[in-house]
Amino acid sequence: MQVYTPPLRDMRFVLHELIGSEALKELPGCEEVTADLIDAVLEEGAKLVTEVLAPINQAADLEGCTYENGVVRAPKGFKEAYRTYVEGGWNGIACDPKWGGQGLPASVTKFIEEMMCSANLAFGLYPGLTHGAYLAMNHHASEELKEKYLPKMVEGVWTGTMCLTEPHCGTDLGLLRTKAEPNGDGSYAITGNKIFISAGEHDLTENIIHLVLARLPDAPKGVKGISLFLVPKFLPTEDGRPGMRNGVLCTGIEHKMGIHGSATCQMSFDGATGWLVGEPHKGMRAMFTMMNSERLSVGTQGLGVGEAAYQGAVAYARERLQGRALTGAKHPDKPADPIIVHPDVRRTLMTIRAYNEGCRALSGWVARHLDIMERSTDPEERQRAEDFTALMTPIVKAMFTDLGFENASLAVQVYGGHGYIRDHGMEQYVRDARIAMIYEGTNGVQALDLVGRKLPAHAGRFLRSFFHPVLDFIDANLDDPEIGPYMGPLSKAFGALQLATGFIAEKGMKDPEEAGAAATEYLRLFGMVALGYMWARMAKLAAEKRNEPGADIAFYDAKRATARFYFERLLPQVASLWGAIKAGKGSLMALDEAVF
Ligand SMILES: Cc1cc2nc3c(=O)[nH]c(=O)nc-3n(C[C@H](O)[C@H](O)[C@H](O)COP(=O)(O)OP(=O)(O)OC[C@H]3O[C@@H](n4cnc5c(N)ncnc54)[C@H](O)[C@@H]3O)c2cc1C
Repeated sequence: MQVYTPPLRDMRFVLHELIGSEALKELPGCEEVTADLIDAVLEEGAKLVTEVLAPINQAADLEGCTYENGVVRAPKGFKEAYRTYVEGGWNGIACDPKWGGQGLPASVTKFIEEMMCSANLAFGLYPGLTHGAYLAMNHHASEELKEKYLPKMVEGVWTGTMCLTEPHCGTDLGLLRTKAEPNGDGSYAITGNKIFISAGEHDLTENIIHLVLARLPDAPKGVKGISLFLVPKFLPTEDGRPGMRNGVLCTGIEHKMGIHGSATCQMSFDGATGWLVGEPHKGMRAMFTMMNSERLSVGTQGLGVGEAAYQGAVAYARERLQGRALTGAKHPDKPADPIIVHPDVRRTLMTIRAYNEGCRALSGWVARHLDIMERSTDPEERQRAEDFTALMTPIVKAMFTDLGFENASLAVQVYGGHGYIRDHGMEQYVRDARIAMIYEGTNGVQALDLVGRKLPAHAGRFLRSFFHPVLDFIDANLDDPEIGPYMGPLSKAFGALQLATGFIAEKGMKDPEEAGAAATEYLRLFGMVALGYMWARMAKLAAEKRNEPGADIAFYDAKRATARFYFERLLPQVASLWGAIKAGKGSLMALDEAVF
């Protein structure tokens, strides 16, 4: 049995104490987002995921989706769970009230997302994609399209998809072949084959709205010739009901490693009627609105699975009796001690814990910037927040999902053979977590985005949105009695990040392969420094808070101890990452292709 309890205490710590939920009220549209309201939303969300989504996670993994003659059925319980989810108003929590949403800020909704990913990642993909499609349409579609589709998508009675991938084109969308021919009445006929389309077909809702990348007849070659189209499964009638069936069909589903409850569909578009979203040939721009949001959400998937895996591992480590503590029996009344006494098991648990809590804090910080970027009335503040979010998106996507997979694997290790077999549901976490490193742009491609686009952007302006607060923090806390000792390791790691940035800027300018060769290690190094900064801030805050009257001392002291673990046992990895970066591309590119 999987065990999962939403970590509400930690979420409240990040939101209220670390990031400061009070400041949310100053943003337009958030005036009524009080701490009480936030806590009520988190608690209701926790109820939803523990009572409705978590109980069907393992069975759905075993059963998977089924396909028959173009019809796809989600696993048992998904339809009912989806109805409960929609009736509870959850689908629209992050959407504009203009379309029926609740307009809650990302600072709050990110935590609901995390809980859903922990409880049932496969289920979460259906609403997750709808939200991405909603965002792309809200930013780029005509008012007419918005009015027709968004209220239904926000309510959740229609879901959305993103149809980019084709059999011969995944990362390199410039190769895309799907065609769009004008029908002469403002609509287009879309023809082509898409693969790997999440939620492309299913039985949860009465209609499915596909956002499809395709080429117009006069399109230039490559990514500059791609446009975005809205293609509904059923063409809506005048009064907004699903009408005639459109020329889009699911021709099969994939049998895959994990997320079995999520239908991964092959889709055939055969002259399907669609409408342009945004400008002709500017489809990648419109799709990026969706993809950027999805990338941050995929990062949250890594964190969510990592948290669920951690909780399972802790529960098992407390109850599994094997061997004796190295310093002598801790539980002499029992035939053996629980494995949580062993230093190596502790190392494993502490590693997962430190990464999860660090990522949750970083996620909260990024979400705060998302809210500022979308809502602030101050253009300069908005710009800074946008810079920061753009910089952090590949880091959150790639590092959180790498860690989600690593953490799930570590959690299996805590169970020994009992983690590898199915019963406890731990191996499911490993399988489920793996895809997040691949979709929404592989993690290798995220690293290239960081070094190739984000570092050089506006002569390093994006970088400054991170470098400045970290430098200021280090300077201000060198003598702090609690975290002063961490400022040495943090500034050393930060120094390595600066050196690595300079190295890539200089070498990469002359030889782009040098930047490509350094990219993955650089992204992890950057992420480790970002987590270090979050851990230092958390440790400082915890030291202050523990002394307040009535404080939850155990919670704050656990934070401080975990911070210490991060600085002593995890942050030192930065040195080896920097070592690998400065070695350059030589050994990577040395072998002739034929030798492999
Ligand atoms: C379960 C699942 C769900 C999915 N859902 C969707 C969906 O809803 N909609 C959708 O459109 N797609 C979806 N995808 C597709 C997914 O986004 C792609 O699989 C992904 O983008 C990678 O493309 P690819 O598989 O063709 O790999 P390729 O592009 O062939 O890449 C193969 C390898 O080469 C590397 N590589 C490729 N190009 C470069 C480069 N220029 N530089 C360095 N390395 C490179 C990659 O990092 C990767 O390791 C899904 C896939 C799966 C498996």
